[in-house]
Amino acid sequence: MEFDVIGAGLAGAEAAWQLASHGHVVNLHEMRPQAQTPAHQTDQAAEMVCSNSFKSDDPNSATGILKAELERLDSLILRCARATRVPAGNSLAVDRAAFSAAVTSALRDHPGIRWITDTVARPDPQRPTLIATGPLTADPLAEWLAAAVGSERLHFYDAIAPIVDRDSIDLSVVFAASRYGKGGSDFYNCPLDQEAYERFLDALLAAPRAPLHDFDTPYFEACLPIEVMADRGRETLRHGPMKPVGLDDPRTGRYPYAVVQLRQDDLAGEHFNLVGFQTRLTWGAQQEVFRLIPGLERAEFARLGSIHRNTYVNAPRVLDAQLRVKALPRLWIAGQVSGVEGYLESAAGGLAASLFMRQHAQDREPAPLPRETMLGSLLHYLAHASPKDFCPTNAMIGLLPEIPGGILDHRMLKRAGGLRGLKQAKGAYHRERALAALEAHIA
Ligand code: FAD
Repeated sequence: MEFDVIGAGLAGAEAAWQLASHGHVVNLHEMRPQAQTPAHQTDQAAEMVCSNSFKSDDPNSATGILKAELERLDSLILRCARATRVPAGNSLAVDRAAFSAAVTSALRDHPGIRWITDTVARPDPQRPTLIATGPLTADPLAEWLAAAVGSERLHFYDAIAPIVDRDSIDLSVVFAASRYGKGGSDFYNCPLDQEAYERFLDALLAAPRAPLHDFDTPYFEACLPIEVMADRGRETLRHGPMKPVGLDDPRTGRYPYAVVQLRQDDLAGEHFNLVGFQTRLTWGAQQEVFRLIPGLERAEFARLGSIHRNTYVNAPRVLDAQLRVKALPRLWIAGQVSGVEGYLESAAGGLAASLFMRQHAQDREPAPLPRETMLGSLLHYLAHASPKDFCPTNAMIGLLPEIPGGILDHRMLKRAGGLRGLKQAKGAYHRERALAALEAHIA
């Protein structure tokens, strides 16, 4: 069958490759470089616009389980990520340029994929289509979509973090370590004593912010700008992105009062991003305020933070459990615009959509993915969350069905060696159950 896929981002790239690899013809429409979004900078597929991380690679974490499922389903995105990974403790972080280049060549070299550079204003009603245009969907299509699904709200705001040049970091001040020593010492950590923390906070709170044009549009809670977190109380940052516990400075043997973590952003190790420092301070203010951080006094910024719109449909109202638009059964939506949040989750949505589209091509009733899998639970959330206050979601253990009674009793807690061990034991249970359910589904 011939499909249209609109958008060669994380979701669209995965879906196009999956469909073509199963014998279908795919017209992959991507507007870049003819038109750009406010966040993308290249003409490459699957561009990672902010952090370079696919989050935790701990096998028993929510994202670890999702990765295992995607690997079992032969995900292109994950294969390219593994091939281009950079050191980042127990997270899967990649060299963003090498990663996108690998995905782009897989798509461009595939004989079943026609790469078309254009900005799609509406899907072709003659052809089954996947919309995977992401949080920065171009206006004409966003408008068409809002009208087609009768949605009252299609967007809210997210922010991105700055990146500094390695050569401009003062290595006599920062120390290399991962939290609790997990994964070696892959992060640079800028230590702040109480005085430095208070000075930084005062400057942050007083600094000018770029204006927001749409006052009713809320932020995404999991990606709040650093200054908005600081507004909530003087200690908030010390319990959030500047949390020092588990980051002992080898020079003192203790953890500092507060810490700013820097994570490698490219394979060459030339760029580091400020972890959790997404911001909408004006660019001038960012340079002034972030240079107050010990170790960054002479920081050169390869990219400054910014604020962006995030477009998504009200999934429980608009989509069925197979990512299909209820009112338009030959139209699927995947990725961030379907109401998931994150690179990995978007790629996972693209993969799931491709499974349902393949079943459509075979005239088969789409088989829902098992609820016990992280992928199935993400889709279940999209279809069943409350439409009244629908908010996009990351992969989270809490989305999975509960562990049947009796497993979480005191003996298990004791055996697991306390709460931290219990979290691992629960994760391991979820992982085993998810992968078994996926195997049964595939069989
Ligand atoms: P995208 O990867 O954005 O792909 C959509 C593609 O569609 C783009 O290539 C775009 O050019 C194209 N397109 C749009 N409209 C049209 C049209 N009408 N016609 C043709 N092509 C079109 N997630 C994380 O996990 N970590 C982060 O740090 C992170 N930071 C983010 C920062 C910003 C600024 C933004 C916007 C999002 C961020 N996200 C982050 C969220 C999300 O994971 C990413 O946006 C992710 O790329 C979403 O994947 P996607 O495939 O849905 O969309």
